Amino acid sequence: MSRDGTPVLRRGADLPPRADVVVVGAGITGAAVAHQLARRGAHVVVLDGAARPAAGATGHSGGMVRAFDEDPAIAALALPSLAAYRDPGRWASGRAPLHTVGAVTVADPARGPALRQAAARINDALRSSAHVVSGAAEALGIHLAGGIALVEPEAGWVAPAEVTGDWLRQAVADGAAVHRAVRVRAVEDDGGRPAVVTDAGVLRAGAVVSAVGPWAADPVPGLRPATCVRSRSIQVSIVERRTPAPPHATFVDLRTGRYAKPVGTDRTLIGMPHLVWDCPVDAPPDLAHAEATVSALTPHLPWLPTARRITTVRAADAYAPAPGGGAAPALLEGTGVPHVWSVRAWNGGGVKTAPEAGRRIADAVAADSSAPSV
Ligand SMILES: Cc1cc2nc3c(=O)[nH]c(=O)nc-3n(C[C@H](O)[C@H](O)[C@H](O)COP(=O)(O)OP(=O)(O)OC[C@H]3O[C@@H](n4cnc5c(N)ncnc54)[C@H](O)[C@@H]3O)c2cc1C
Repeated sequence: MSRDGTPVLRRGADLPPRADVVVVGAGITGAAVAHQLARRGAHVVVLDGAARPAAGATGHSGGMVRAFDEDPAIAALALPSLAAYRDPGRWASGRAPLHTVGAVTVADPARGPALRQAAARINDALRSSAHVVSGAAEALGIHLAGGIALVEPEAGWVAPAEVTGDWLRQAVADGAAVHRAVRVRAVEDDGGRPAVVTDAGVLRAGAVVSAVGPWAADPVPGLRPATCVRSRSIQVSIVERRTPAPPHATFVDLRTGRYAKPVGTDRTLIGMPHLVWDCPVDAPPDLAHAEATVSALTPHLPWLPTARRITTVRAADAYAPAPGGGAAPALLEGTGVPHVWSVRAWNGGGVKTAPEAGRRIADAVAADSSAPSV
């Protein structure tokens, strides 16, 4: 066992010959699904090609979570997910992972009625104190730059790698096995059930869930989702926040896509869209974009121009276009191989939805496979 409680198996280590469900990817999505399936009694094996869990988008993520989202399908996942992040009873650590610093969503003033309705819905469900601030210059340390704000005082951020580790620990306690440094090369149809071909051997499964994040854009044979998925760069910088710069909430501006969150007591993460497509998770930072981000965020955080930039982190997430006709993307898509499912692209928001998405995906997989042991 490693220090975080998950078993370490290196390349070439013995894989079990079969499992009820194989989850490919030990990011926050795979960990959520594995935890939920193991809790339902399935024998789950998690495989990840990296040497440690959360090595992909999850390990680089800012982890901002809030109940509000403009997309009703995402809001329906984000609201119960925020409740899960607030509830200490759901975590192996016995501590709720949420850092309750508040969340400010800035929008065009014309959106006032819609935001007030959203605040009422959130408060009904969570017994929280969400409200709309209009005609003010600032809310929870964020300058509104001519916008209005939906303020969720009970939201904030989580550390995504810690959440992932907690779910994997719970899955292992419920009988799952987590294999690191085992890359899946292909998934084949073996008489109507999947055979998972890895660089450490072949594993037969009742069902397979592919939760490979941005790698879904360049999938291994048998894991290709029906929807066109592309990887898109996400870049953030961490800057020093010194007195007299005030503490602040997490924030996102719906008008521009700019965002920020506190990191501890004296640092702030800032970001804005970085529209570079089809790039690897480990592409080098784009320093011109990092400088432009400081200027773009200054109307919201006026102390930024004198703040020292500590580091710039670049990674990527999976993005997919919304389906036509206003339909919500399905959480799971078929891949052409029976009982092999690909999790939807999270379009840069997979942390705030992970608890509820994991629960719903586990329900669907258990129902699909009629979960027979193989
Ligand atoms: C800088 C940044 C900031 C972000 N900020 C936020 C935020 O504030 N709030 C929010 O909600 N979301 C945020 N996101 C988005 C969120 O982090 C992602 O949507 C989420 O982490 C995706 O998780 P995942 O498990 O689907 O993918 P990943 O974390 O990428 O996990 C995929 C895993 O699959 C493994 N894998 C891939 N291919 C194979 C293979 N063939 N065999 C075995 N294993 C394989 C990889 O090693 C990896 O561990 C941010 C993302 C980034 C990059």
